[in-house]
Amino acid sequence: MKPRILVTGGAGFIGSHLCSRLLERGHEVLCVDNFYTGSKQNIIPLLDNPRFELMRHDICFPLYVEVDEIYNLACPASPIHYQFDPVQTTKVSVNGAINVLGLAKRVKAKVLQASTSEVYGDPTVHPQPEEYWGNVNPIGIRSCYDEGKRCAETLFFDYRRQHNLRIKVARIFNTYGPGMHPNDGRVVSNFIVQALQGQDITIYGEGDQTRSFCYVDDLVDGLMKLMNSPDDITGPINIGNPVEFSILELAKVVIELTNSRSKIDKRPLPQDDPKQRKPNITKAKEILDWEPRVQLRDGIRKTIDYFDELLKKSA
Ligand code: NAD
Ligand code: UDP
Ligand code: UDP
Repeated sequence: MKPRILVTGGAGFIGSHLCSRLLERGHEVLCVDNFYTGSKQNIIPLLDNPRFELMRHDICFPLYVEVDEIYNLACPASPIHYQFDPVQTTKVSVNGAINVLGLAKRVKAKVLQASTSEVYGDPTVHPQPEEYWGNVNPIGIRSCYDEGKRCAETLFFDYRRQHNLRIKVARIFNTYGPGMHPNDGRVVSNFIVQALQGQDITIYGEGDQTRSFCYVDDLVDGLMKLMNSPDDITGPINIGNPVEFSILELAKVVIELTNSRSKIDKRPLPQDDPKQRKPNITKAKEILDWEPRVQLRDGIRKTIDYFDELLKKSA
């Protein structure tokens, strides 16, 4: 029988793509979400599928269900969202991880944590390999997310050492694609929406900070390959696209592909904004035989089409 799979945060951007792909593979999928940042809209196309079940629940509270595998994605992910109620962000990461791990322990499920490149903070090692311990400010405005996710990783490894749980930790780097929330403040969604609406493109700082952008389909492939890897493969493992762009370069690509007349508007750089980020994905290539396939321009075109349609609908 196919494993029954729980996806926490399944109504979010990455979660809804993951639920959809798991259903395509013939799995039974239980999506648990409290709609804090996700939306029912994202999963409406899945509701007709008899193998899909939606449960409104906050993972800060215990959850008693019977499943074989768990993808733990529940957590606000964009800086605007996770800084809106920072105490809640740490609670979701830490209490959520404890509940998901307690559940996995009781039902002997395999459990995957959606961790993040933010565990590397403002990295002094470039590109970032998994062995790097990071450079994180413990008391800044990003700490609720960064330290929450670091503590969740600790819990995952302690549940493995103490209770022999089958765990998988994926360190996800910046991901984009259709299904992103238009107002979540992330750079790809902001730039595309601004360009399509003819507004100025807001660059924080000089735009020389870098990020490496992974298309969501590639990311979901990576997460599923990690989940399906042998039990001794725990990670942490970087899942991201290693092609690095400055934020100014990204702005230029978006302006070109939208044929926009938008100008650049430079704004102050937020506190603790990482200066550079690029994954070393040697481990993912060697252990999972995974690497991203979608080039930035192709992925951005698909994301532009998605936002174009969304904006036309809401006009
Ligand atoms: P998202 O905000 O779209 O999705 C998060 C989902 O979790 C939402 O549907 C939200 O409603 C739900 N949620 C939040 N708190 C919850 C709670 N207490 N109980 C139940 N559900 C709750 O974000 P996303 O981009 O899809 O990110 C998914 C996961 O991947 C997150 O854990 C995030 O930290 C991680 N991640 C994402 C990126 C990225 O670039 N998108 C990068 C690194 C890590
Ligand atoms: N938990 C849960 N679902 C389960 C089993 C446990 O939500 O099916 C929660 C439980 O409420 C507890 C947490 O997971 O707070 C950690 O469980 P664990 O068994 O590790 O610890 P304990 O119950 O001994 O505190
Ligand atoms: N950024 C920007 N303009 C925007 C939104 C973001 O210049 O309108 C910058 C931001 O300061 C950061 C980078 O783009 O340097 C990526 O930001 P995002 O919030 O998408 O992700 P994260 O900082 O978590 O990697």
